[in-house]
Amino acid sequence: MKFKEIFQKIFGIKQRSAPPVSIRNQEETSEKMQKMLTMLSNTENIELTCEEVFAVLDQFAELAAHGEDVSKLMPLVQHHLDMCPDCQDEYRVLKNIVLNTAY
Ligand SMILES: [Zn+2]
Repeated sequence: MKFKEIFQKIFGIKQRSAPPVSIRNQEETSEKMQKMLTMLSNTENIELTCEEVFAVLDQFAELAAHGEDVSKLMPLVQHHLDMCPDCQDEYRVLKNIVLNTAY
C-alpha cells in the first residue's frame, strides 16, 4: 500500500534526513527504535518535538494498532500525545489508516 504517500499527504512534511523508504523497511525501523531507546536511557527532561513525534508516529500507530503496549514501548511519544492535541489528531488518523490497511 502507499502508506508513505498517504502519510506525507496528511502531514505535508518532507523528511529531510530520512530517505524515502517504506515504513516496513526493517533497517529504518531499528534505526528509529535505536534512537528512541537512546533517548529513553537519559530521558529525565527530554520532551519530543512534534517533528520528532511525526517521525515515529507511523510506527507508533502501527504498534498500537497491533495491540502493543505503546506507552511502555515509546513512553516519550505517548507522553507527547498526551500533551499535544495536534499530534493526537494525527495519531488517530494514522492509526485508522493502519487499521484499515490490509498488509
Ligand atoms: Zn505535537
